[in-house]
Amino acid sequence: MRFVRIAAVVLLMVSALSAAKTLDMYMIDVEGSKAFLLVSPSGQSMLIDAGIPGSEQNGRDTDRIVEACKAAGVKQIDYMVVTHYDGDHVGGVPALAARMPIVTFVDHGENVQINDFTVKVVKDYMAVVAKGKHIVVKAGDKIPIKASTHSCYGGREGDHDAAERAGQPNPLCDTTPVRSGAERAGSHRQQDANENAMAIVLLVTYGKFRMLDPADLTWNKDREMFCPVNRIGTVDLYMTANHGMEVANSPLMVHALQPGW
Ligand SMILES: [Zn+2]
Repeated sequence: MRFVRIAAVVLLMVSALSAAKTLDMYMIDVEGSKAFLLVSPSGQSMLIDAGIPGSEQNGRDTDRIVEACKAAGVKQIDYMVVTHYDGDHVGGVPALAARMPIVTFVDHGENVQINDFTVKVVKDYMAVVAKGKHIVVKAGDKIPIKASTHSCYGGREGDHDAAERAGQPNPLCDTTPVRSGAERAGSHRQQDANENAMAIVLLVTYGKFRMLDPADLTWNKDREMFCPVNRIGTVDLYMTANHGMEVANSPLMVHALQPGW
């Protein structure tokens, strides 16, 4: 199946235009998930995921995001990145869109997780997307942000060749097992075929600073980015994947990234 074969990696390169300005990042604790707000030195903003769908609970999620935006001086979301269509990531987007302007929506394209709940949250999300601009990312794409460069690799229908030539062999590929659905914490294989496996992975660079946020990418999918060569390199900061679950964060990724080492 083409859709489950690949995951998207978005590379976010923010150029340092002014020494006086900083790249600011806010990790917002939303119910069961996180929302990640980036404010570039150009003043443009990017929010990655937005919490769970409409409910009293989500009201609080949206409040928290709006509060963080206020603290950051952000009056609109220039890029709303939906890493994938699980409810705890995309579900809060309509509620947020009712509270503040969202200019451009970025996602991986078609939903691969066909169940009633996911289909509903994607329908609600797409109704909001229809009112704004929409970018579907795939490998090698660049997301145009003023004074910044954003590009993707690893995504659906992607061409890994250029990055592959540049990468170093990753010895952890041989020592990290491919996991099957029969193992504890279960359903690795199932995880590899759902929306988590489609997650947009965000690599943020600013000067020499590098950060990777794999969203909910799953254990076996890590291999596509890091084997046989490490296409990402090392990072200063690693955001734990998939809520820290055991179905993600494989050694071949985490140790190859050498976060903060
Ligand atoms: Zn999640």
